[in-house]
Amino acid sequence: MNDDQLLRYSRHILLPEFGVEGQEKLNSAHALVIGAGGLGSPVTLYLAAAGVGTLTICDGDQVDLTNLQRQIVHRSESIGRNKVDSARDTLASINPGVRVHALAERVEGARLDALVADADVVLDGCDNFATRHAVNRACVKHRKPLVSGAGVRFDGQISVFDMRAEDAPCYACLFPEDAQSEEVRCAVMGVFAPLTGIVGTIQAAEALKVLTGVGKTLAGRLLLLDALTMDLRTVGLKKDPACAVCGKQ
Ligand SMILES: [Zn+2]
Repeated sequence: MNDDQLLRYSRHILLPEFGVEGQEKLNSAHALVIGAGGLGSPVTLYLAAAGVGTLTICDGDQVDLTNLQRQIVHRSESIGRNKVDSARDTLASINPGVRVHALAERVEGARLDALVADADVVLDGCDNFATRHAVNRACVKHRKPLVSGAGVRFDGQISVFDMRAEDAPCYACLFPEDAQSEEVRCAVMGVFAPLTGIVGTIQAAEALKVLTGVGKTLAGRLLLLDALTMDLRTVGLKKDPACAVCGKQ
C-alpha cells in the first residue's frame, strides 16, 4: 500500500482484527454485486469506500424518480441513465482506486456462471426469485460465499450462505425453488427508505468479514429485522439433505 492508501484505510488498519493484512485482503478482493437498487446502493458504497479492489455490478434497469427515495448511490441528474453507470460514477468519486465493472444487463445462464466463478464473494440484492435462485445455484456450483439480503415494507432479512463449508445450507434449503413463493416487490408493497439501507449495510459488513476472516458471519443463521419495532432476531438454518440444489442427488 502507498502512503495515500495507508491514510485512506487508516481507521481499518487501526482495528487489531484488521491491520494492514486485513486491508490488503480487501484491496485484492473481487466482489460480485447483483442489483444496483435499494440494497445494492449501500452495498456498493461501503464496499468501494472500504477498498474492496474490484467490484462487478450487474443491473439491467435505468434510474427512475421512484428509486431515489432509498437508492442512495443514484442522483437526481441520473434519472434515465443505466443504474450501473450511475453507480460507477458515484463510486469513482468516493474511491477512484476501486475498479468497477458495470454490466447493464440482467445476468443469467452461462454469463452469470462465469461471473460467480470469478468472484471471491457474491452479494445478492436483486428483486426477484428467479435471479435469486440462479445466483444461488451458481454459488453452490462454484462453492462461493453468498451474502443474501431482502427488504420490503418494514421487514428485512439477511443471511450468509457460505458454500466453502461442506455442511453449509444454501438459499434453496430455506426457500425451495419449487415453492409457490409470492413475489413481494417494493413497487407494489412499498418500502421504508432506511430499511434497504440497514439491510444492505449489514450485507456489506458480512462481505467484509467473509473476505478478511474477521469475526463470525451470519453463516447458518438468518437475521430478521422488523423496522417498525426495531426488533432483531436470528434463527438457525440447517442444510436440507433433500435440497434440490445443494443436497446429494
Ligand atoms: Zn440447499
